[in-house]
Amino acid sequence: MKVTLTAAVLLCLTTGTALAAEARTIKKSDVVFMGAKTADIYKVYGATLVSWGGRPWGDNEKAIKSFEERVRTAHELGMRYCAGAAFRTAFAKMIDFDENFMDSVCRRLDGEPILVPWLWDHQHKGHPAYWFCTNSPGYRRYLKFQVKLAMCTDVEGLHIDDYNGTAGTEWRGGCFCKHCMAAFREYLRENVPRKKLKEYGIKSLDDFDYGKFLKAQGVTVDDYRRKVERTLPLGREFITFQYRSATAWVREIRKYAESLVGHPLMLSVNSSGSNHKALMIAPYLTFFSGEVHHGAEPDGRLKPYPIWSFKLADALGIAQVCTGSGGDWAYIAEHKKPGLVRTWIAQDYAFGHQLMAPHRQWAYTKTKGTHWYQSQPEDYAHIYRFVRRNADLFDGYEAVAKVALLYSNAAFRVYKRDAQKACYWLAEHNIPFHLVIAGDDWLDVKLTADKLSAYDALVVAPPDMLDGEQKKVLDDFAAKGKVVLYDAKKKCVDEEKLFSLVPRQIAVEGADGVMAVPRAIPGMADAPVVIHLLNRNYDPTKDAVTPQRDFKVVIRKSLFGRLNFKKATLYAPPQKFDPDNVGASEPVPLKLEVRGDSATITIPSLHLWGIIELEG
Ligand SMILES: [Zn+2]
Repeated sequence: MKVTLTAAVLLCLTTGTALAAEARTIKKSDVVFMGAKTADIYKVYGATLVSWGGRPWGDNEKAIKSFEERVRTAHELGMRYCAGAAFRTAFAKMIDFDENFMDSVCRRLDGEPILVPWLWDHQHKGHPAYWFCTNSPGYRRYLKFQVKLAMCTDVEGLHIDDYNGTAGTEWRGGCFCKHCMAAFREYLRENVPRKKLKEYGIKSLDDFDYGKFLKAQGVTVDDYRRKVERTLPLGREFITFQYRSATAWVREIRKYAESLVGHPLMLSVNSSGSNHKALMIAPYLTFFSGEVHHGAEPDGRLKPYPIWSFKLADALGIAQVCTGSGGDWAYIAEHKKPGLVRTWIAQDYAFGHQLMAPHRQWAYTKTKGTHWYQSQPEDYAHIYRFVRRNADLFDGYEAVAKVALLYSNAAFRVYKRDAQKACYWLAEHNIPFHLVIAGDDWLDVKLTADKLSAYDALVVAPPDMLDGEQKKVLDDFAAKGKVVLYDAKKKCVDEEKLFSLVPRQIAVEGADGVMAVPRAIPGMADAPVVIHLLNRNYDPTKDAVTPQRDFKVVIRKSLFGRLNFKKATLYAPPQKFDPDNVGASEPVPLKLEVRGDSATITIPSLHLWGIIELEG
């Protein structure tokens, strides 16, 4: 195929303006869109960023002009635009691009082609939706072509959908294509001692083929899927190779995109950043932007699931922009529950991250396949505009905490994941906390005594799976009596010990189901502080939260390190969409009493969400 972008790219390089570094970060008050067709939609939501912006649909003038128009529309509204590349879903374009496309298809251990399972209802020229291999030179050529299209006009960021490419075929039995086999051979040569290879009976790597090696031992596709990381010889090495290869490829693509556009780019990938596999790419990202399961389920209860990803993102110093999962939106579309979605918007902003404006969302079930949830601005725009109108209550604020919770990458790699349950327990019990990360050879973040010195207690959900220096740091902290265990059987943290180390810092009295999330601006001791109040009394029969009235929020001095507050004010989003004044609401002065080492704030009424601002 002929590539005709040279002129457009040259134009970019000559007219493109480099962004100030600040503009290449996510702000807590950002209103993020996956992409919309008209400026009116952006305006009504107060959108500031397009995160999944796409690219021209083809290599022709009409397609490029149309894409440029989309980017210009966003820029004229002062928004930033992240153009998109898709590593897995553009199978049809790959079939058109490369006549030798079968050479780039991912293969299972038994040699069968791997298909993208959620595109079971898609076909192109009589072919199913092949899962193409990001380790194959042919597919890499196509992806670079895609990125060249995406960078045909000046944009601020690059978003990559399904960024882990071939690494994601692990559950499908792959990938054992000839390109992966060749690359794994080189990986073994450079990373695994010969002695270890000999133990597996591998005398020479010259013609080594991992697929043949496994099959010779009677390993089937099903065995591979279930056991690769647990018991198969060289299984952990193979998975490590695949994920490292995916990460390296994303970094190469970013460099390539930046060379085309002529300045640094924000980089995001479609991921929830919730486990060891997703976190490998994290140090190279500006933000995660992807599906985070919000738990829309028939029981109608609010779930705290996204908080885990938010806390991990905080610990890594990046943002988690999210949408719900395909299943979430299928539920919302079928049962028509915008009230439930409003609780998600509130929760995500309260924890310092964002639910993308749910204007038109991908929905998926096994039986219905791909379909769409379409909302109206009246459903949600007033909540987003409330955030924009009160951006100074969000930007620069971070979670405050004297309690830390340990995340061990090594434990996650062997599926010991009770830390996630401990996270939900802490959040639901209104105990402010941070995650602290203990990394490993997959994640270069170390648990250090210096990091722990900021905390009075560390919650650990065994087993920690640490060794070496990090284990010593943990043991030393435990020797000081500061480690508190999460009991998986009782499904709770040792509350007595926790409160003996860190007496309750914040309590909601006189109302049930209100989550309190305190936040402050680090390093600004006199700046106002905020406490988000999330009303979790969601009633599925009414698709609304039950208001809570006349209750108190009590805080201890240790929470913010001060109690010199003179004024308390409650900011809350309007309950309805008013087309003449979208998102406007009157702040409510609150009664504030400071006595001894605590302060009591009286809340007359709380609907969906409120933000207490405390000023000195
Ligand atoms: Zn492959």
